[in-house]
Amino acid sequence: MDTLHFDGRVAIVTGAGGGLGRAYATLLAARGAKVLVNDLGGNFQGEGADLSHAEATAQAIRDLGGEALANGDSVATTQGAESIVAQAMEAWGQVDILINNAGVVVGVGPLWNVTDEQWNTDIGVAAGGTFRLCRAVWKHMWDRDYGRIINVASGSFFGMGSGVGYPAAKGAVWGITRGLASASAATGKNVRVNAIMPIAASRMTTLMGEEIETAMQRDFPADAVAPVVGLLAHDTAPSNGEMFSVGGGGFARVMLGVTAGYRGTNKQWTMEDVANNFERAMDHSEFFQPADALEDAEAYESGVNWNAFRA
Ligand code: NAD
Repeated sequence: MDTLHFDGRVAIVTGAGGGLGRAYATLLAARGAKVLVNDLGGNFQGEGADLSHAEATAQAIRDLGGEALANGDSVATTQGAESIVAQAMEAWGQVDILINNAGVVVGVGPLWNVTDEQWNTDIGVAAGGTFRLCRAVWKHMWDRDYGRIINVASGSFFGMGSGVGYPAAKGAVWGITRGLASASAATGKNVRVNAIMPIAASRMTTLMGEEIETAMQRDFPADAVAPVVGLLAHDTAPSNGEMFSVGGGGFARVMLGVTAGYRGTNKQWTMEDVANNFERAMDHSEFFQPADALEDAEAYESGVNWNAFRA
């Protein structure tokens, strides 16, 4: 296969002052993209601001002969999101690639200790930031009939043991991804939106303790996630609306499936009927993957013409 390049492409990478975002920005720039490196530059709990983080990544890219600008706005505000996009537009006149990587983990520990503020921060950065950046570029990409968006979710969506705000925000990121990807697919636009669940050593994973952190630095370097993000950001991105688990040099599709289930039609069924058919609902030896909400509804026997809604 020929080497894949990003010549002539403009990318925005949020939260790229360090960790995974820096790895994505560096890869894209090394292969010819002009990159707007955004990072608020606070700590991993979202406190503070420091442009020097974004500037350090942008400078490192320029030192290697690439083209990059730094931006220190917050993705968690509409003004911040719009000025991130405006800066890229002013500098280069277009935005082809958006990587929504900025994220924080705040509301961990027992649920009864989590404050509204912590919840709002977790949701506001990962979910709100992804929404705001997508909204700020979507019409531009739609009108140009070109765009590649990679949203950063997290395996915490499978369950995190402690904390609900962060996994909730990452679940929302998947919802945004599916929503935009299905809108694009329905109209045949060349705008592809995918998501990843990365696994990599970063300052965020220092939360997991020293032993795990040391092993992660050895086995899950941030650079090993970047090639998947790079391909999804490329003209040749082979998917739309998909989620991938990525780490340590490997990747796998994360699927949202519905089992064949129990498809009864008795509207007067009882709780006991549910108990008696529970195993059938759980059995995943047969399953399907709805492309949208209507395909899920179509699996139930009914006389509803779901296509009327589609039209
Ligand atoms: P990180 O803390 O190094 O990176 C997150 C970056 O986002 C930081 O540089 C931070 O300054 C920036 N940021 C935070 N709030 C911001 C805001 N409001 N506006 C702009 N920038 C902001 O951690 P990381 O591990 O590199 O995380 C990158 C992304 O990957 C995050 O979305 C994280 O949730 C996700 N993730 C990481 C892992 C992992 O194993 N490291 C696992 C699952 C998901």
